[in-house]
Amino acid sequence: MAARAKRDRYRLKKRPQPGARELRCEDAGCEAYYAPGGWSFRVPLVREDLIREVRESGRKYTVHVGPAEVEFTFPPGTRCFRRHYVDWVEKFGVPNRYGETVRTTPELWVEQFGENQQRLAEIQARG
Ligand SMILES: [Zn+2]
Repeated sequence: MAARAKRDRYRLKKRPQPGARELRCEDAGCEAYYAPGGWSFRVPLVREDLIREVRESGRKYTVHVGPAEVEFTFPPGTRCFRRHYVDWVEKFGVPNRYGETVRTTPELWVEQFGENQQRLAEIQARG
């Protein structure tokens, strides 16, 4: 049960706070959207669900498949996967050691999600 509660914190789609108005990347001054060289997003190969989500997102990208992860590179002016709000709500929140949800980058979110999954697997293996 405890493991389940922890896993739920990593849900990708977090509800915005009531009354928060969503902004498009171009209106939010999104760093990824305006990056001159475009932006990239790395997904561990084991995250087939995330990889599928990227592929089906309708964005243009080039893809590089490495031994453990897939790197999608998007041209400048591509909307990112975060959601921008007037009352900023970070989509990629992760729990810190005090149990509070803190902001992070998509890259860190994936990394910490992976570490959490690893810990859950170890806990389950121990029984
Ligand atoms: Zn954006």
